[in-house]
Amino acid sequence: CGIVGAVSTRNIVPLLVQGLQRLEYRGYDSCGVAVHRLVQGSPISQGLQRARSTSRVAELLEQVRTEDLQGLTGIAHTRWATHGAPAVHNAHPHFSYGPGLTAESGKPARVALVHNGIIENYEQLRAKLQDKGYIFASQTDTEVIAHLLDSHYNGDLFDALKATRAELHGAYALAVMHKDEPHRVVGARAGSPLILGVGVDNSEFFLASDAMALAGVTDQIVYLEEGDLVDLQPGRYWIAAKDGHVVLPEQRPVKTVH
Ligand code: GLU
Repeated sequence: CGIVGAVSTRNIVPLLVQGLQRLEYRGYDSCGVAVHRLVQGSPISQGLQRARSTSRVAELLEQVRTEDLQGLTGIAHTRWATHGAPAVHNAHPHFSYGPGLTAESGKPARVALVHNGIIENYEQLRAKLQDKGYIFASQTDTEVIAHLLDSHYNGDLFDALKATRAELHGAYALAVMHKDEPHRVVGARAGSPLILGVGVDNSEFFLASDAMALAGVTDQIVYLEEGDLVDLQPGRYWIAAKDGHVVLPEQRPVKTVH
């Protein structure tokens, strides 16, 4: 239903949750946020951590306050369930811990992902991934994307997204993080809207399903086109078109929204 993502050099948890609040008008049954967690006094990411709720975004805000969730890089989602009942374990962000591993294994999450839309071939993909040892924690179509991306990951999140996208049939907007790349969010747009927000001095970048989510944060928006992939890191972003080639900035101009 709604997506917000950010790469920055400041704590973006409040901004992500406010973004979800601005998308509440669209309706949702659950919500969640994941970040590369930072703790006071250390510049090093403590790994991917998430909070999820089947209540209001205000309740999610309480959770992130109680847990003192902070990070420079994060993704957030409001869900409108299509596959799998509204429940915390089906709420996004979805994690992949790798083959044979679950949240209970005590190993760090590798992939965090939010998704709008529907994956038509999720049953075939799930069967294939289960053969490879992946253990599913939800009934969603979305979770297959997280595990598929993990199976394609070879040190570069953007490359993994390209390989993953080639296997997906359906409609999606995606925002994804990997534990080994704490300053990077990648996204894809296919049949579901996704925009990129440019922060002051290019110091931070945002993804959102709707420019409304970024109101008060930035009015500098790049409208992604069908089939686009996007790669955000603090200080720079790039966009690749459906054919895989990087597009020039003038092909996806930054526009001021009012
Ligand atoms: N199909 C996904 C799910 O049911 C995403 C739904 C949405 O767009 O919010 O979890």
